[in-house]
Amino acid sequence: MAEPATPPLPAATLDLLARMPKAELHLHLDGSLRPATALEIAARRGLPEGDLDLGGMRQRLVAPERCSDQAQLLRAFDLPIRLMQDEVSLERVARELVEDVATDTTRYVEIRWAPALHTDGGLPLEGGIEAVVSGCASAAGATGVTVRLIAVALRSHAPERNVEVARAAAGLLDRGLTGFDLAGPEQAFADPLRHAAAFDIAREVGLGITLHAGEWGGAAQVRRALSLGPWRIAHGAPAADDETLQEELMQRGVTLDLCPTSNIQAGMFPRLRDHPLPRLLRRGVPVTLSTDDRTVSDLTLVREYERAVTILGMTLRELWAMDRRALEVAFLHHDETVRAGLLAAFDAFAAGEPALSATS
Ligand SMILES: [Zn+2]
Repeated sequence: MAEPATPPLPAATLDLLARMPKAELHLHLDGSLRPATALEIAARRGLPEGDLDLGGMRQRLVAPERCSDQAQLLRAFDLPIRLMQDEVSLERVARELVEDVATDTTRYVEIRWAPALHTDGGLPLEGGIEAVVSGCASAAGATGVTVRLIAVALRSHAPERNVEVARAAAGLLDRGLTGFDLAGPEQAFADPLRHAAAFDIAREVGLGITLHAGEWGGAAQVRRALSLGPWRIAHGAPAADDETLQEELMQRGVTLDLCPTSNIQAGMFPRLRDHPLPRLLRRGVPVTLSTDDRTVSDLTLVREYERAVTILGMTLRELWAMDRRALEVAFLHHDETVRAGLLAAFDAFAAGEPALSATS
């Protein structure tokens, strides 16, 4: 279904959205691979995809604007995962992603990836994690972006494998790996409690807890996710259909890290204007705004902010409140000084922008 035409934003608004410091909490490493880098890695490894031109590679990496469901959308990750099977590639892709988010004036980002998907070439879990940590650290230093990482367990993997991932991720808190997530095909593997043991380990070692929910199965799947005791939920938009669930999210202070464009691609809503982000926000449910995947969704965070204004009808102050909230719920629980510094910097920016400051 086509999106209705929307009037262009005034230049001053576009400028403010571009300059506004941002915090992005829901961003996948393997969904954000630069096409040029993919091409180089494929050529170096002698893969058939190395013969594509840049446009052809881009087409391979960007998912259709509307897939039939989450399962179809997930196929877009097959090639990036095949390409990222050694330390050099993982380090490079991680570094480049931090450089790319810096172009959105993002000051804080959480990048997530599933270490167990990058061991097909013989790389040990720990080696792959190390490569991503070091790629992010070098780009964080160069760009000034504060980066934290989230290790992703997979619904489709054996619970024992996810326990191994949790163990491998443990102990890297002081190097920026501060969160633990569950993702993957939701319809085929609907019950997150299968992986409770991995989450118990993650919680015990002090990782922040989140999981993907609601890309399939509606509000019932979001409610089910609560059984793992998450601090935040990745997606969870169908909570908009269930007022009792919304009350529970508010009472427990569980934030939904929403990605409207990605949800349309996954076939969750017919059009972007139907996405319930504004409704959830106005109801008081804690929500944040992210891209999910820069390349798979052919998206930047600035463009997602623009769409939130033009298509979802959000005000600049609503966007700003959501942006600031992302810092409040970020997995910086071992770095409260860093959180306070970022909040102070964001507040100082807003104080100079009448369009954002609540008191003007
Ligand atoms: Zn996601």
